[in-house]
Amino acid sequence: MRAKPGARYVETGGQHRMDWQRDAACADAADPDLFFPISLHGPGADQVEQARRVCRRCPVAAQCAEWARETHQGAGVWGGMAMEASGGGRQ
Ligand code: SF4
Repeated sequence: MRAKPGARYVETGGQHRMDWQRDAACADAADPDLFFPISLHGPGADQVEQARRVCRRCPVAAQCAEWARETHQGAGVWGGMAMEASGGGRQ
């Protein structure tokens, strides 16, 4: 099951502080799947661009990007960066 952006970071514990997610611009995104495109190319590229538009107005983009790096998120759009599911590449 895919969590709604803005709530997708919920943890039950661990070393990463997650309180910044309360201010996530994607918390109210109409389509959470935008942040998890199947591919960074083709139709997926449009999804990535739509997600990045939300990230550009997000007040916690820096925290989001840092968290994604620290927790080795391998796919999705985090802090305005798109990560490839299969190879960990970024756009
Ligand atoms: S930077 Fe983007 S993915 Fe991260 S919390 Fe903000 S809107 Fe969501």
